[in-house]
Amino acid sequence: QAPVAESDPEIAAAIGQELVRQQDGIELIASENIVSRAVLEAQGSVLTNKYAEGYPGRRYYGGCEYVDVAETLAIERAKQLFGAAFANVQPHSGASANLAVFFALLQPGDSFLAMDLAAGGHLTHGAPVNFSGKWFKPIAYGVREADGLLDYETMERLAREHRPKLIIAGGSAYSREIDFARFRAVADEIGAILMVDMAHYAGLVAAGAYPSPVPHAHVTTTTTHKTLRGPRGGLVLTNDEAISKKINSAMFPGLQGGPLMHVIAAKAVAFGEALRPEFRAYAKQVVANARALADELVKGGLAIVSGGTDSHLMLVDLRPKNLTGKAAEAALGRAHLTCNKNAIPFDPAKPMVTSGVRLGTPAGTTRGFTEAEFREVGRMIVRVLDGLAQANDPEANSAVEQAVAKDVKALCQRFPIY
Ligand code: PLP
Repeated sequence: QAPVAESDPEIAAAIGQELVRQQDGIELIASENIVSRAVLEAQGSVLTNKYAEGYPGRRYYGGCEYVDVAETLAIERAKQLFGAAFANVQPHSGASANLAVFFALLQPGDSFLAMDLAAGGHLTHGAPVNFSGKWFKPIAYGVREADGLLDYETMERLAREHRPKLIIAGGSAYSREIDFARFRAVADEIGAILMVDMAHYAGLVAAGAYPSPVPHAHVTTTTTHKTLRGPRGGLVLTNDEAISKKINSAMFPGLQGGPLMHVIAAKAVAFGEALRPEFRAYAKQVVANARALADELVKGGLAIVSGGTDSHLMLVDLRPKNLTGKAAEAALGRAHLTCNKNAIPFDPAKPMVTSGVRLGTPAGTTRGFTEAEFREVGRMIVRVLDGLAQANDPEANSAVEQAVAKDVKALCQRFPIY
């Protein structure tokens, strides 16, 4: 049979160009990473051919003996990695994992308390356009305007006032440690379920570089492709047997049909990698690198929301340079520094414009960057943004962007991937 390069040159070209983009650019999107060859191989395997509705040992299809091995390994490794009694490795994505919790534990119309999207929460935590906002009643807490830190007092007040059925901790753009015990205390006080969405921090949690929510939460959800460095997908963990049964039924047959066995095999490979000592060193380096990058950006005249970071990510406030997130994302992109515009808390700009960019160190750290390289990256970012701030129009900054793109390529070639 012909390889994809022969059978479908258009797709092969897109894949090839994406490979070069990843090789020659610095990935600063906080939710992305660079998986190992072993993860790629497992995901690109014949397991994609297999139907396996159900769970290991309890399938609705024959021929599941080998995919059962893969799923059991994924489950056992996830449990070991996070110290959980139960794991469901079938969610196709982080959003599906969160949907499963709502489907398992709430009724349509129930209220829940979660971090506002504008403060760093995720779409599935109650955005009006999302199932969570359309079918349930979200109540939102946020961060304090004065210091950008999670507003625990308001969260607790809202919990007591509205008595939601579920409280969610975790988010997509909050860089600081979260006090999960404090969330659990108020959940217990009002009889609510505590769900922690650790999608962003999971790899750090696995490695002990960020506090684990698992002992505190009734149920923990995550993606597997961010700091955890696995294939795109989701995972649900709990220590509560009754909840585990409800999650299993919600996942299948409630929400999904056949699990993606090739992805589950790749999750098993990634969890296996995360159990090794090298991964602990990696996660520690991710946080050290984020701190170095944040420090360099502050030296360059930018502000960091909350003043710094305890994790892999930071929100850069561009207002000191009078720039928008939209313009900064585009200019940095032209210099092959990929990031995303992101609203900062209490952002005066429109959501499609924003006053911030979100930056993260997981992918660069996987390449082998340490603090020295991330300080270099910080200086490159400042060069591009200073150029942009001084230029009358974005075109006028192209000489700076091209010069930085050359430096980016040189740095990437010192730390090759694939
Ligand atoms: N939860 C959080 C906190 C996230 O940041 C994300 C993704 O960005 C998700 C859930 C959703 O994951 P997915 O994109 O795999 O659906």
